[in-house]
Amino acid sequence: MSRNSFKDLLPESRILDSVNDCEAYGHDWCRAYEGKASAVLLPENTREVQAIVQRAGEQKIALIPSGGRTGLSASATATSGEVVVSLERMRKIYGIDIAEQTIHCQAGVITEQIQRAAKEHGLYYPIDLASAGSSQIGGNIATNAGGIHVIRYGSTRQWVLGLEVVTGRGEILNLNGKLVKNQTGYDFRSLFVGSEGTLGFITECTLRLTRLPRSFPRIFCAAREMSDALRILELARSVSNSISAFEFFTEACLQYVLQHHSFRRPFSTVYPYYFVIEVEDMTDEESLRFQELFATALEQAWVSDVIFSQSQQQADDFMELRERIGETTASHYVVQKNDISVPVSSIPAFLRDVDELAKSTFVGCDILLFGHVGDGNIHLNIVKGEGLSRDEFFALCRAKESTIFELIAKYHGAVSAEHGIGLLKKDYLHYSRTMPDVELMRGVKRVFDPDGILNPGKIFDL
Ligand SMILES: Cc1cc2nc3c(=O)[nH]c(=O)nc-3n(C[C@H](O)[C@H](O)[C@H](O)COP(=O)(O)OP(=O)(O)OC[C@H]3O[C@@H](n4cnc5c(N)ncnc54)[C@H](O)[C@@H]3O)c2cc1C
Repeated sequence: MSRNSFKDLLPESRILDSVNDCEAYGHDWCRAYEGKASAVLLPENTREVQAIVQRAGEQKIALIPSGGRTGLSASATATSGEVVVSLERMRKIYGIDIAEQTIHCQAGVITEQIQRAAKEHGLYYPIDLASAGSSQIGGNIATNAGGIHVIRYGSTRQWVLGLEVVTGRGEILNLNGKLVKNQTGYDFRSLFVGSEGTLGFITECTLRLTRLPRSFPRIFCAAREMSDALRILELARSVSNSISAFEFFTEACLQYVLQHHSFRRPFSTVYPYYFVIEVEDMTDEESLRFQELFATALEQAWVSDVIFSQSQQQADDFMELRERIGETTASHYVVQKNDISVPVSSIPAFLRDVDELAKSTFVGCDILLFGHVGDGNIHLNIVKGEGLSRDEFFALCRAKESTIFELIAKYHGAVSAEHGIGLLKKDYLHYSRTMPDVELMRGVKRVFDPDGILNPGKIFDL
């Protein structure tokens, strides 16, 4: 393919094909693959996206829908000369409806801008992830992004009211508008959430918003056993319905963050596990009950140390320690990221088993475990050891990772909790989905994208 295939559809300045652009737009944050796009197209509206898809269909050109490229599973990566279609110029916010608590915008709007726009109107978009400053809302929808507030607010899916999409057939579909209730047949909107760009381009969306919480106080605590965290979660839930985050990380993670950022170690003593618990708009009565709960927890040695935030700044610093882990490893190290989930009650046993297995399998590498306890979502980062070259490291991951996925299957877990399958986890999809499942997915793909031009080879092969 060359820029000639699309040159009558877009101005020259919105077709990029320099080596640098093709490389930069050709991959996401997953660095296991090189970006090899043949061109990058920058449409500004839905009609332009439609024209691009129709042309690609005629000429059988593979397209990669591309958002903020913060994905971690190589689902926005071009490995064999595909054309990247970036929605970065589609950043219009059409409006916020305060009465209906909705926002309507183009899909290329950055997540943080949605959060900010909502806040300016006294409203709240609760999906929050460490990549919110770069990820786009279209990318969040295409990956059903989760983040730290899933325990209270669910994933992106729960906040998508309506979508406008361009399918692989080049049709524009308006899915649900801004209806709260609509039982008129199959819900295609839901199908597009989490579809990783394989069914169509999300070009516009209407999102639900909610009341803006007044404060986000947080409790930072340390424990020696993961099983005690579940006890704390259970007790915390009996105190408040407003637990909006319950995050954990290990001492190894803390060391990585402290090495690259100027945060202070929260406790002078080193502990195996740390937790950040957020309780939105904590009332005085709840605060008192949490203090009683943690006094008992200290007495019983379920936790070893605890700090209640005294200011929003301190609360933010607690969460930064957790949120900086992913970015620190991705920016400064060669890392294989696994984003897995198991039933919440299985977390302690699974963590023990996966830690042992990973340490004995990836000898010389650091094993970092962190994640969202309340959702059963664990991030397992394997950091390349100094004795291995980059290629040796990724070869080792490819050769040995199935042992991790066998363990996940044993615990009835999922090989991806929120980052998606993309290219990185494609070979392991069968650990979480059956053959009939995957066959049905292929069928759905053929309906929306009969020529197979949208993000081919991602999630599964046709
Ligand atoms: C530091 C860091 C922290 C992160 N934390 C979290 C977290 O807590 N929770 C979480 O869920 N994820 C997290 N992620 C992963 C990532 O940010 C999310 O997957 C995010 O939703 C991707 O959005 P994006 O715009 O960057 O999409 P991209 O990476 O550009 O694309 C992701 C997928 O969506 C498709 N896509 C993008 N835009 C469109 C569109 N308009 N129409 C159709 N398909 C499209 C692409 O083809 C691709 O398949 C994190 C990433 C980083 C780097």
